[in-house]
Amino acid sequence: MSANSPSEVVIVGGGIYGTSLAYQLAKAGKTVTLLEAGEIACGASGGPGERGVRSNGRDFRELPICSLSLSLWKHYQETFEGGVGYRRLGGIKVYDVSYGHREHEVKGRMEAMAASQTSLGCPSQVWSRDEVLAREPELAGSIFGAVYCPHDGVGDHTFATRQFAKEAAKAGVTIRTGAKVAEILHAKGVASGVRLESGEVVAVGDRLVILANAGAEALLKPVLKAHETSPVWNLMPQMIYVTNPLNKTVNYLLSHAHRSLAVKQIPDGTLMLSGGAHVAYTPEGLWKGSLSAITQNVTDAIMTFPFIDNSSFVKADASRVEAVSADLIPLIGQPEALSNTLYGYGWSGHGFAISLGFTKLFTDWIVSGSKPDALKPFSPTRFHEPAAFLGAAAVSRAA
Ligand SMILES: Cc1cc2nc3c(=O)[nH]c(=O)nc-3n(C[C@H](O)[C@H](O)[C@H](O)COP(=O)(O)OP(=O)(O)OC[C@H]3O[C@@H](n4cnc5c(N)ncnc54)[C@H](O)[C@@H]3O)c2cc1C
Repeated sequence: MSANSPSEVVIVGGGIYGTSLAYQLAKAGKTVTLLEAGEIACGASGGPGERGVRSNGRDFRELPICSLSLSLWKHYQETFEGGVGYRRLGGIKVYDVSYGHREHEVKGRMEAMAASQTSLGCPSQVWSRDEVLAREPELAGSIFGAVYCPHDGVGDHTFATRQFAKEAAKAGVTIRTGAKVAEILHAKGVASGVRLESGEVVAVGDRLVILANAGAEALLKPVLKAHETSPVWNLMPQMIYVTNPLNKTVNYLLSHAHRSLAVKQIPDGTLMLSGGAHVAYTPEGLWKGSLSAITQNVTDAIMTFPFIDNSSFVKADASRVEAVSADLIPLIGQPEALSNTLYGYGWSGHGFAISLGFTKLFTDWIVSGSKPDALKPFSPTRFHEPAAFLGAAAVSRAA
């Protein structure tokens, strides 16, 4: 490539998706430019604490990709100098019997979930009450079982995103921060470049990839046809941090089968509570918490780990925005009007865990020119084509 020729691939968005894709494509021999409006990891892939790297309880359509992703988290943790901040602790989804429900129903649902997760590539075991309390002794006595996923864990998302950016730069990727894309430029059915807010045009060699999360919809809307658009909205998940004065240990990444809760213990011992009600979103990126959102999440945490009642409040953070789709799985596609453009967004609050699997499949797509079958369930046309959603067999049976 001469100094003035465009990169083969231009990526918009410097979160975990953009940086890990840039790295993988550079390693596959592509020339790559990554454009980020702010700084690397200034969006959902940044901020304090850790993210859950979880297969447990996921939408089944995501599980094969999650399985691939979890193996890649382990691989990069072991091969990057300094790792990627991934800790494979194992994850548990605990359950009790909520008011009005039957024990056999809860247990049956959990056993069916564990069996399906295992057959879709994410090993899962059902633990009895004694087994779960022996391994996570601070749990409330009302817990009577758990689904355990040994490959689940946690990741320092900010560190991981910066590590991929660092390794991508070493592999030759041009990373431009403060480069907000205002518009996709196109001619004859392909994206020819992007115009930055500054007015500068960045030319696209072969492929444009939009991985701009909450910024993706605005860029794509002018080029998508009506049947390619999808209902998305933005949410601001809230993370609560509390002290650990009794020096207790939470051994696993924990979620609950019917409480809106995630609990992690970050390396300094602080407890991180999340998974509860989200806070208000404003287009300016401002967030407004509420006592009710905090109260609900803290109550669910104490009902699960009673020792947390001794903790003191440290802070709540809900400064990061995430795009969400109507069925809570991502939107991955190629606009009909632009044959060289790909996009992925709408990770719906749980995109960190599966990011490396999706970016591996994006890499395969770009290198081979064919869309991997595993990405097909995520096409936005699912909202417009009932036949595709139900499957051809179901439609022909009904006819
Ligand atoms: C508080 C919170 C907690 C979460 N917890 C979990 C969890 O426990 N487990 C899990 O798996 N997932 C979790 N998620 C989801 C996960 O963090 C995201 O799905 C993932 O980080 C999304 O990565 P991304 O690269 O697509 O987006 P982002 O990190 O948001 O990156 C997109 C980038 O695009 C840039 N951009 C936008 N518009 C433009 C433009 N026009 N031009 C140039 N650049 C642009 C933005 O500045 C941003 O840096 C959580 C999300 C949040 C917000």
